[in-house]
Amino acid sequence: MKAVIFMRLKNNFFYTLRENAKDEDSLSGNLLVRSGMIKKSASGIYMFMPLGLRVKQKVENIIRKEMNEAGANEVFMPFLISADIFAESGRLSSFGDEMFKLKDRYNREYLLGPTHEELFVIAAKEKIKSYRDMPFNLYQIGDKFRDEARPRYGLIRTREFTMKDAYSFDIDEAHTDIAYAKMTKAYHNIFDAMELDYRVVKSDTGAMGGVLSEEYQALSDMGEDVLVICDKCDFSSNLEVASVNSDYKKEEKEKNYEIVETPGAKTIEEVVNFLSIDINDTVKTLVYNIDGEIVMTLIKGDRELNDTKLRKLLNATSVEMATEEELKTITTGTFGSLGPIGIKAKIIVDNEVLNMVNFVCGANKDGYHYVNVNLKDFDIYKAGDIVNIKETDKCPICGSKISFQRGIEVGNTFKLGTKYSEALGLTYLDENNKTKYVDMGCYGIGTARCISAVVQQHHDENGIIWPVSIAPFTAAIVLISNKDEYASKVAEQIYKELENNNIDTLFDDRDERPGVKFKDMDLIGIPYRITVGKKVSDGLVELKTRDGKINKDVKIEDIVKELKNI
Ligand SMILES: [Zn+2]
Repeated sequence: MKAVIFMRLKNNFFYTLRENAKDEDSLSGNLLVRSGMIKKSASGIYMFMPLGLRVKQKVENIIRKEMNEAGANEVFMPFLISADIFAESGRLSSFGDEMFKLKDRYNREYLLGPTHEELFVIAAKEKIKSYRDMPFNLYQIGDKFRDEARPRYGLIRTREFTMKDAYSFDIDEAHTDIAYAKMTKAYHNIFDAMELDYRVVKSDTGAMGGVLSEEYQALSDMGEDVLVICDKCDFSSNLEVASVNSDYKKEEKEKNYEIVETPGAKTIEEVVNFLSIDINDTVKTLVYNIDGEIVMTLIKGDRELNDTKLRKLLNATSVEMATEEELKTITTGTFGSLGPIGIKAKIIVDNEVLNMVNFVCGANKDGYHYVNVNLKDFDIYKAGDIVNIKETDKCPICGSKISFQRGIEVGNTFKLGTKYSEALGLTYLDENNKTKYVDMGCYGIGTARCISAVVQQHHDENGIIWPVSIAPFTAAIVLISNKDEYASKVAEQIYKELENNNIDTLFDDRDERPGVKFKDMDLIGIPYRITVGKKVSDGLVELKTRDGKINKDVKIEDIVKELKNI
């Protein structure tokens, strides 16, 4: 296969849309559909058209090159996986409704791979017998399937998507650290090559399990994740795991609690207004079903509870808001009047509540609250950090100001530890002939997410502005008039020369008005546009960069040299 591809628009599959896509809820989704790069075939499922596929392949080749240079070996895993394999690792049930399941003609169960740890472990077993058989790293670039409840944002949240996933196999965590560092370096090279503005943030290990997880988040206003970034030190974290280091403390002599009437006041704000008190003196009470047990949580009135932190604090797998029915098992109170006094449930409090005195909370009776409540008035089962960090909080590392930004998760890296090797029996013999579990890392990149993130960051009102590294074509030749024989000849000649110099080139030789051609080239975002028009009789063509930084006339014979120089 030739490294570079050339394309004449006449008699080839190329189209653009004048109107915005009706069913796209993101800028990148709209631009990619309008520029004829992708087309939605069903909710969360997309076709890649020739130009879109070119971009996808360029992204994949950047990834492939860096993975190979980091010493990883490429494999290809099937999409269709026997359910037995996921049953063994326990993920058939833990993955939940996001997994696409199906049956074959003999009624045997299968699934469409949502992720591939299990298969890679099976592959690794073929090689690993002793400590001498490691380290190594395997990767693939292939499709994953997840039954998203709400597919959205174009290629960002889809039900079928291409991912690069890599897995490292080592004798212990110290050696996994070496593999992890190599992948980290490769990831920086990859995202830098795509000219993405991104941050690496600590995150929750979630369904993957393991000991450490980091996300590569491309900054974008429409990102689904909130990132917490310190203005001073290098602290950066996903909101769901950012620790709160509150210095809140109230010093006051403890009083005895009393019941007060608070008719109609249910929310914290209503109680604060009705009693004319400081929100810092209120406690918000929430009731959860945690792995089947109903528990009560207390946080300071101005805070939001963080489910992920609560789940981790209790080492639980499932955290759900309690239903009305479930609430009845611990109190006669209703939502809106809850408090810890006299409750028949474990009480979990946030660290900040430990520093509160004489606070206000529900009395488990509609229309009433307790005032001057203190910790001595109820039993605490456990305390910990269970709230979301706020932008007014200080950096948990250095105490400086923090800010929130939104991000699109384009990659992630996990230190899995021995979670999968234990579940699937991946062992080796060490120097002393003792059986040990293999230590693993796993490393993902969503290729379509990268494309979307680049478009979110690189565009203007006329369309996409691709970085050269992943543009479908580096240069476009626009022939103003097909009827002008000399101009046609010059355009053909430049096209041939660019081909000889391995510069990916698109040749707009359609019988269209110049305005249409210019609009299309802007929309599809080709970095360099060479216009062969009227000045060709003076020996000149026009060179314009998509970002508008260069716009000048160049001698016909210099155009290739000029492009190579840039
Ligand atoms: Zn800091």
